[in-house]
Amino acid sequence: MIFVLFNFEFDIDGLRVEMKKTKFLFCLFDGLRRDFVQSNIMPNLNEFRNEWVDYPNSSSTFPSETRVQVSSFVTGTYCGGSISDASKEGSFGHGIMANSFYDPILGFDGPLDTSDMAKMEEAKGIYGSLQKTPSLGELLAKENKNYSVITTGKIGNARLLNLNADELQQRLFSIWGADISSELADYHGIIEKFGPVPKQSFPNNQVSQYATQILLDHFLLDRSVDVQVIWYNEPDLSFHYEGIGSKASLSSLECLDQCFGKIMKWWNAEGRSDGWNVIVCSDHAQISKQKQVNVINELKCAGFKTGVSIIDDIDVAVKASYSGQITVRDRDPKLVKKIIEFLHAQDWCGLTFTRDGIHGTFSMAEINALSERSPDINYMLRTTEKVNQYGYAGSCFADNPDIPNGGGIHGGLSRIEINNFMTLGGDQMNRQKIFDVPTGIVDILPTIFHGLGIKIPKTAMGRPLREAFLNGEFEPTWSETNLMASSGHYSQEMCIANVEGVKAPYLRGGRRVS
Ligand SMILES: [Zn+2]
Repeated sequence: MIFVLFNFEFDIDGLRVEMKKTKFLFCLFDGLRRDFVQSNIMPNLNEFRNEWVDYPNSSSTFPSETRVQVSSFVTGTYCGGSISDASKEGSFGHGIMANSFYDPILGFDGPLDTSDMAKMEEAKGIYGSLQKTPSLGELLAKENKNYSVITTGKIGNARLLNLNADELQQRLFSIWGADISSELADYHGIIEKFGPVPKQSFPNNQVSQYATQILLDHFLLDRSVDVQVIWYNEPDLSFHYEGIGSKASLSSLECLDQCFGKIMKWWNAEGRSDGWNVIVCSDHAQISKQKQVNVINELKCAGFKTGVSIIDDIDVAVKASYSGQITVRDRDPKLVKKIIEFLHAQDWCGLTFTRDGIHGTFSMAEINALSERSPDINYMLRTTEKVNQYGYAGSCFADNPDIPNGGGIHGGLSRIEINNFMTLGGDQMNRQKIFDVPTGIVDILPTIFHGLGIKIPKTAMGRPLREAFLNGEFEPTWSETNLMASSGHYSQEMCIANVEGVKAPYLRGGRRVS
């Protein structure tokens, strides 16, 4: 007891602080909307947010699908380059263009599913590297820092959180088994100690509790870890399949908050004094699917030779989704124009982007999504502010037959769905601060590196959130720009924000206007 008090006194005069090793726990709740972080739904998380640093204007990268956000988190980049790098196409961004994306260079008979291990291996052989920019695992290894991951997300999520975990001798634990986890994570040892991973269900509470237990009773006991990730696949699953605000989703949120409460108990008892800072985020939010549209069928009916890959007499390859991608044979500009004109004439069509920003579309570079791996067209189905059956705003058409009408969806650019949760706490951080400056997933890596006192890689497109730290700098200046594009009766708007000292703009949200 005397030792503890002595230790605490050292904390106050600052001597002990310098001797402590700084560490980061990154806790991610997949799909969590900010409007659920309230005292009556998530009291523990709400208290954390109020006590520490909150960024209400944080955004996902585009497309707002999980494995794109995973890649943005581990590289500090967007999927492609921004307008300022447009002339250097290919040299910017992580290159994971969606959870599944079609790239004719790969010669596959459809999109590359980033959860398909065999296809990912094949793609690696062709691309050289799947993520084009150095990732957290590699960068930390170079600095002799220890990176460790627990994830309940899909196989692609686990892999993309650390593609080289085995070579780098780092720990990556995936609920999907020993062959997805790294050797050092000792999947079988964990199963022996804690029992088998529970079966997934909606809400996925048992899996969330299991992940929390192995975090607290196993992974955090290793004092050599510098950055620990825990990635929960909820409330995303419950939102998708049961609805945003449904009983199942509220049960999931309650369970996650209890899990977070346990993490806070550890943190307050020993984690904080041991140097741990905590970053709590979601990767994106969700809106509600109102109605299914089958875009491939619609294009076929309009006479386009459409399929899932460019082969034989198929000229138009569609990666169908609420946030979809179209690639045409030889990137033929005339065919691109015809498809754009067709899309813009449909009521269900929302935002549209092309490589050049022509015919009433925006340029992909304006949303940091231009890369040699980009399709010819990025399109989203139409969104509205309409509330769902549980009173939560944001609705859309979707092309995702696995998601029921009324279920949650994401991937696009509506203001609501890209507004992710982002808070930071710890002895290095300010207290009770709210910063309105736009930020996003791309800023997490630079912020962790800033906190660890190591050089931020040149490839990172985000910025360290210096103002969040004690004795940090002033909040940078920023401004919003509302981009407009139109052709005939079709018009759309996209809001981006420029933050002092950052080249790539932050995404604020867009919609079809008419
Ligand atoms: Zn999801």
